[in-house]
Amino acid sequence: MRDEKCIFCKIANGEIPSATLYEDEDFRVILDLGPASKGHALILPKEHYKDLYHLDDEIAAKALVLAKRMITKLTEVLGCEGYNIVQNNGELAGQTVFHFHMHLIPRYKNDNVGL
Ligand code: 5GP
Ligand code: ZN
Repeated sequence: MRDEKCIFCKIANGEIPSATLYEDEDFRVILDLGPASKGHALILPKEHYKDLYHLDDEIAAKALVLAKRMITKLTEVLGCEGYNIVQNNGELAGQTVFHFHMHLIPRYKNDNVGL
């Protein structure tokens, strides 16, 4: 299901252009518009789930496998020395876009990323 008002539905399905790192039938991986560090990416399912509580189990499993593959590949490309995977649920937890997504945040020496 898609949500007509959701910006990540539009981005994930290619209706709004984005800096896409990867795409398959279930997901699009894009660069974050306000990166916490160089190469900060977001995994977006193409279907609309507002948060982890609502996420389909099969998509949840695929998202983690995709995160593993992406950070393995991106570590080679970016030369980063670590990775944070961040996933916010609810306004109090810092969620600002209510379409489930995972942050892949590369870490570099002295990068001052405040998590
Ligand atoms: P949240 O705070 O919901 O966990 O994360 C939302 C993230 O989406 C933020 O890091 C923000 O910079 C990013 N973001 C918001 N709008 C857009 C957009 O239109 N394009 C892209 N690429 N990233 C966005
Ligand atoms: Zn959506």
